[in-house]
Amino acid sequence: MLFKSKKSTIAISIARGVLDSIFDECDRCDADETGGRLLGTYRQNKNHLDIEVKGVLEPGPNAQRTPTFFMQDGDYQEKLFREIEAAHPDVEHLGNWHTHHVNGLQTLSGGDKATYNRVVNHDKHNTDFFYALLVVKKNRSHPRYTVKHFIFRRGDENFYEVPHSDVQLVDVPLLRPANHAAPVRERSNAPQTAANPERVKDQDFFSDFYPGMKVLLAKEMNAPYWKGSLPLVDGSRADIVAVEDPDDATRSYSIVSSCKNPMLAETLAKYRARKFPSARHAVINLERDLNQSLYQGRGGKG
Ligand SMILES: [Zn+2]
Repeated sequence: MLFKSKKSTIAISIARGVLDSIFDECDRCDADETGGRLLGTYRQNKNHLDIEVKGVLEPGPNAQRTPTFFMQDGDYQEKLFREIEAAHPDVEHLGNWHTHHVNGLQTLSGGDKATYNRVVNHDKHNTDFFYALLVVKKNRSHPRYTVKHFIFRRGDENFYEVPHSDVQLVDVPLLRPANHAAPVRERSNAPQTAANPERVKDQDFFSDFYPGMKVLLAKEMNAPYWKGSLPLVDGSRADIVAVEDPDDATRSYSIVSSCKNPMLAETLAKYRARKFPSARHAVINLERDLNQSLYQGRGGKG
């Protein structure tokens, strides 16, 4: 039995207050996806991973929520994390929690899996795992919500659901930033852009058909934008960015490419003036026209 499979085990302990604060956030936010970051410590030896969740970072005042799309306010969370870290230097980002009970999906979405795989394999990711806690159901009685626990590992395409028997609740004090009052959320502070349903469709579409396209948040605009590299018919690639226009009430999108191929210059120039109803409309149209230009350009010379 030379290649006996490595049997790795994972145990999770969660401060009771962490779940309480997650459930409180779920109560406040019962129509849209929401979530936050999980903080704590971990120990890893050989094939055993012990995770202790001791705190959460709330999503922040500029988090964006829709029933199927959620983006945290990274700047705000970073600030809170630094405050906590100052008092508890051993604390780490362990992962994220987010909700699906609002959209009925009982497990992680394709987009979630792609995102977490990318995160855990990133050079700069602080640990070799990523913990995703997912709220899947609102209950009538105790506990208020049903949650699931997933672990992603660096260099491993699979992810693992940790059974409830390996998760225990413990009564330890919550990690909190010094001088930080209890979180107060004013929903009216959320940017109006949070309600754009096209973002949800874009997210699904790209994760299914263009997994290389990544969504990023343009901080100064408070709007997500899509970035990626399109493979073209001639074997070349075009780096593209599709941006949501923050000033346009109808939420139009524009698209640009840094591609320098002279055969494509005319098409790209035309696109500078074009607006699209979604990022996916922009990407598909541009891809088609770039390929057409390349094909015709080749034919013309041939
Ligand atoms: Zn999700």
